[in-house]
Amino acid sequence: MKLLFHGGRIVDPSQGLDGRADLLVEDGIVKRVGGIARNKSWQTVDASGLVLAPGFVDMHVHLREPGGEGKETIQTGSEAAAAGGFTSIACMPNTNPVNDSPALTRYILERARQTNLVNVFPIGALTRGSQGEELAEIGVMHRAGIVAASDDGNPIQNHQLMRRALEYIKLFDIPVIDHCEDRLLAAGGCMNEGAMSTRLGLRGASRTAEELHVARDVMLSRVTGGRVHIAHVSARESLDWIRQGKRHGAAVTCEVTPHHFSLTDRDIADYDTNFKMSPPLREHEDVQAMLQGLADGTVDCIASDHAPHTSLEKDTTFEEAANGVIGLETSVPLALDRLVHTGVISFTRLVELISWNPSKILRLDRGTLREGAVADITVIDPNRESTIDVRCFKSKSRNCPFHGWKLRGIAVMTVVGGRVVYRVA
Ligand SMILES: [Zn+2]
Repeated sequence: MKLLFHGGRIVDPSQGLDGRADLLVEDGIVKRVGGIARNKSWQTVDASGLVLAPGFVDMHVHLREPGGEGKETIQTGSEAAAAGGFTSIACMPNTNPVNDSPALTRYILERARQTNLVNVFPIGALTRGSQGEELAEIGVMHRAGIVAASDDGNPIQNHQLMRRALEYIKLFDIPVIDHCEDRLLAAGGCMNEGAMSTRLGLRGASRTAEELHVARDVMLSRVTGGRVHIAHVSARESLDWIRQGKRHGAAVTCEVTPHHFSLTDRDIADYDTNFKMSPPLREHEDVQAMLQGLADGTVDCIASDHAPHTSLEKDTTFEEAANGVIGLETSVPLALDRLVHTGVISFTRLVELISWNPSKILRLDRGTLREGAVADITVIDPNRESTIDVRCFKSKSRNCPFHGWKLRGIAVMTVVGGRVVYRVA
């Protein structure tokens, strides 16, 4: 079984490659990259005008199964990923029950295998039940297949436990992924604390609640040598700590979400609960800082924090509404339109942020189109315009703040292990 992509532009930062070349896939593996003559017996894709990149990886996804199948399942989340151009996703453990055991890790992997669309890499809970009291069975979960440990959604408040966690995970060479939020400082706020929260009469969460835990994690990473990955950075001060930490050799990496690089708290003006998430949307200066960090290398990854919710949990007051937005089907067009076409980052840098770096952080054998690599490929039409329409989403949920946005550039084909799992009509 051979599949030839002919005449495309190949962007692969793992090999320092950006240029016109053909790519041949054989038996699910990248067989050759270069000038390749067509062969009648091969399946051929005319890739002229298109960009071929190593398959995109979203390292921050909530699939809701088990326990929240009304919002999303491994099946629907995988379909959404494929349609959004992602060949691999890493799923957070805050399901019901929480993924804090090898049995549940194996269950997720088995469901993903049955679904047979994209690669699903489970993330295990850092503490038992994500209760923040004692460390979970990370070692046995790691043997079962987790690629990171996190209490996302219920972050560790106990600094001593975080230190122990960072020491412990070194044994398995996995990162701790931390949702940085000091619960006391956040004080139950439902949006960013500032001029807008005052104007809307909503309780704000101090930006320092994020910064404090980012600073803590940078310090603890330096002390322990354990790898920490800061999830969904939203405040400009947090990036300053990460930048400084990296300069001093801390094993810290971080991600930014598309909503945090394209929206501010001013977009909440009509109390639309699709603009409610944690961490909250910040201010103009924060978005500018995220763009700067994406461009200068401080930010390692773009991740969606895809967080599906039913309309029941969103059709309520802003204070009562659940936190989170979906992102698998909007990340790539937003990144292309808002970052690449505006000149904030290059195509190479985009692929680094959304494929190569997350693969390295999670130690996946993905993110590259080197000969011999698994043929996970995302094919981009950089100039094709689309309008975000939540009614067309594969995701079960509709909590998306970008409905109606016109964007330039989308993923037109998603190839996993040499098999086309999505192709735009
Ligand atoms: Zn989170």
